[in-house]
Amino acid sequence: MRIYNTMSRSVEPFESIEQGKVGMYCCGPTVYNYAHIGNLRTYIFEDVLRRVLEKNGYDVKHVMNITDVGHLTGDGDDGEDKMSKSAKEQGRSVWDIAAFYTKAFMDDITSLNIEKAKIICKATDHIADMIEVIKELERRGHTYTADGNVYFSIDTIDDYGKLARLNLEELREGARIEVDSAKRNPKDFVLWFTNSKFKDQAMTWDSPWGIGYPGWHVECTAMSMKYLGKHFDIHCGGIDAIPVHHTNEIAQSEAATGEKDWVHYWCHGEFLINDKGKMSKSSGEFLTLSTLLKHGYDALDYRYLCLGAHYRSQLKFSYEALDHARSARLSLIEKVKALKASSEPAKDLSEKALLYKKEFDDALDNDLHTPQALAALWSLLKDGGVRDGEKLALISYMDNVFALSLDKVTAERVGSDEDIALLNERSEAKKNKDYARADEIRKILMERGYVVKDTPSGSYLEKSV
Ligand code: AMP
Ligand code: ZN
Repeated sequence: MRIYNTMSRSVEPFESIEQGKVGMYCCGPTVYNYAHIGNLRTYIFEDVLRRVLEKNGYDVKHVMNITDVGHLTGDGDDGEDKMSKSAKEQGRSVWDIAAFYTKAFMDDITSLNIEKAKIICKATDHIADMIEVIKELERRGHTYTADGNVYFSIDTIDDYGKLARLNLEELREGARIEVDSAKRNPKDFVLWFTNSKFKDQAMTWDSPWGIGYPGWHVECTAMSMKYLGKHFDIHCGGIDAIPVHHTNEIAQSEAATGEKDWVHYWCHGEFLINDKGKMSKSSGEFLTLSTLLKHGYDALDYRYLCLGAHYRSQLKFSYEALDHARSARLSLIEKVKALKASSEPAKDLSEKALLYKKEFDDALDNDLHTPQALAALWSLLKDGGVRDGEKLALISYMDNVFALSLDKVTAERVGSDEDIALLNERSEAKKNKDYARADEIRKILMERGYVVKDTPSGSYLEKSV
């Protein structure tokens, strides 16, 4: 299996640290609002990655955090605390807001058939772990306290910005007027806020530096290392996390352990965009999954839409594109229904059928090429040279990654065993070009109250009205 690593900017063969096992950390939602469908695209990409790893036999320890404290509206420690702002606007407590939007997020990922992470960890449950990381950074000389806040000093390490390939000199020269004058370097970042600029911060904890709350980046360092160790295989997120959040995570994690190569593969999903550019909560122009459901779509229509684009290319959302995804998915379901009405999944696959399996595997194992994997599924369905039972077996195999609930499609088997036997006899007759017999059978079935439906992937019966 090969995967693109943002660190090297290239598609690399995947090798796990421990044989057969993968540690994978995904930055989770900040639960101050509903996830928008752009955020959900990133979680779908991560779900596909996990499923492809599992298809390749890996036991994946998938960890995702829930950010319920410390994330400011600006990634560079500027702006307001997202949770407090939302609580104020809605006249509810921050804890209420966190519980409400965490539940909404879990509902969304369930409807999208996204496998839940094996460990889902809340930032507010891990404050002690974050304090330990900050203490270690302090002990190793990477921090300073100014104006009451504890900062990470990026000038104490020699490779700050390596993931984003930041040019620090350019950044220093071009830095906008820094709101936080206590910073020695504009790129330094807060590990612990005490003398907070947010006087009404509701969530605070005691710490060696005074009562306060953690910065956002230290959350992911503390939780990922707690569950996955000092080094782990994969860290995921959207591409917007590269220049600040993931850059700062790497800086403080490697500084805290004194070891390089904290994470082996950095995997990032591209944006979902709309007419105005990146879909984002701050721009106010964003769509939620429940809006799509209210318009009569199924969550899996959106999943299908996402699968139709490679995760490293931008995907432009439009209702027209969603309509196409919807009709493709519905026609897929019709085809699966027809196959199930006439056959059982085959136990053995012919060489021809195995070629489709290979096409699918190759597409996904080569940097998660979901559009090519979908194309393999459609070619399989159209191929008259592959038996229906083989198609069913392969569809089931493929749906372990697509997760379009194709296994749940019920055959709605119309007709008694005798009727189905006649239907199969008719298919045989057609194959042998005995059209007279095929027609005769169709008439018998009509008299019994059925319409025979022929599709490229087989025939099935419907009750006539
Ligand atoms: P947030 O809840 O804002 O912390 O974001 C959750 C995840 O969604 C992060 O991994 C972001 O990088 C990602 N994300 C944010 N906006 C978009 C977008 N328009 N398209 C795809 N992913 C996004
Ligand atoms: Zn994170």
